[in-house]
Amino acid sequence: MGEIFVVVEHRAGEVREITYQMLWKADELSRKLSHTLTAVIMGGKDETFVGDIAERADRVLVVEDEKLKDFNGDFYKEILHGLIRENRPLLTLIGHTPWGMDFAPPLSVKSGLPLATDCVDVLVEDGHPKVIRQIYSGKIFSKVSFKASEGYLITVRPGAFPADKVGERKGELIKKEFPADMPESRKAFIEFVDTAAGALDISQADFLISIGRGVGEEDNVKVVQELADLMGGVLSCSRPVVDKNWLPKYHQVGTSGKSVKPKVYLAFGISGAFQHLAGISGAGTVIAVNKDKKAPIFRVADYGVVEDLFKIVGALKETLKS
Ligand SMILES: Cc1cc2nc3c(=O)[nH]c(=O)nc-3n(C[C@H](O)[C@H](O)[C@H](O)COP(=O)(O)OP(=O)(O)OC[C@H]3O[C@@H](n4cnc5c(N)ncnc54)[C@H](O)[C@@H]3O)c2cc1C
Repeated sequence: MGEIFVVVEHRAGEVREITYQMLWKADELSRKLSHTLTAVIMGGKDETFVGDIAERADRVLVVEDEKLKDFNGDFYKEILHGLIRENRPLLTLIGHTPWGMDFAPPLSVKSGLPLATDCVDVLVEDGHPKVIRQIYSGKIFSKVSFKASEGYLITVRPGAFPADKVGERKGELIKKEFPADMPESRKAFIEFVDTAAGALDISQADFLISIGRGVGEEDNVKVVQELADLMGGVLSCSRPVVDKNWLPKYHQVGTSGKSVKPKVYLAFGISGAFQHLAGISGAGTVIAVNKDKKAPIFRVADYGVVEDLFKIVGALKETLKS
């Protein structure tokens, strides 16, 4: 029986959403292949989330050391190299996040295992792993196979899979020592600076109200922000809104922004360029308001309103306030 590794990403005592998304995919693959699902936690002493992870894996390899309390790509690379050599997993799933982008390439060089980055799906055909990647700014999905190897490294795009728990496993906890011969790291954690104090992560929001160039000018952004506040939604946007400095970059949806998966995506004045639509492929119900009935966004929208967006925003506000 083979094995699938998922590298657990966490920060300040909290598991990052990408971990649960990778565990979801690994669950599906492990059932299909009858492989063991193994989560790898590298963290400080007594991380509180170990039990939670154990409910989603067959085995949990835990390397605890105060040196791992904060992320260090050099240590991750060395430890994973050792664990992969010892356990020989078929697949090792790593988040395509600043963490994963830091240690996955040097891990590939050190271990000699092929690496596919920024994958939106992972499949196994005739016993051979393949990945789906978006190319040409998300216009084309390409199916990529690897050169034959005994193991494969894959970085997974955040938002590509749901984070749901499927069934319940009772992962066996296996403690591993921090390597005594760990080489000195050239990196040091200094501080974590969030995108902005109090800023919301649009990739985690259930209800997004999104604005595009159609809002016309900066002052109109707050008109839609007021609606978002009234409706309990989070404001997101297309790229021109960021390019014009009307909203900070972390609000941007799309190939060069974030992939989102809200239950409801309400788009005002967004045409629906493929770079934008690639970011909402995981959305539930898409509602589009655009004054151009030929706007491409209507091809993917579940509900479409051909109207001036300000008329709709005004009407919704009135209804909600009355
Ligand atoms: C490499 C690359 C990466 C990119 N990455 C991204 C990305 O991550 N995200 C992204 O969004 N884009 C991205 N783009 C840009 C993308 O190609 C489009 O230019 C962009 O998505 C268009 O944004 P928009 O729909 O807001 O504007 P437009 O295409 O200009 O559309 C504005 C829409 O508003 C409508 N409208 C105008 N006034 C009103 C009104 N009063 N009421 C109702 N409707 C109105 C118009 O009919 C129009 O359909 C990228 C481009 C490149 C080349």
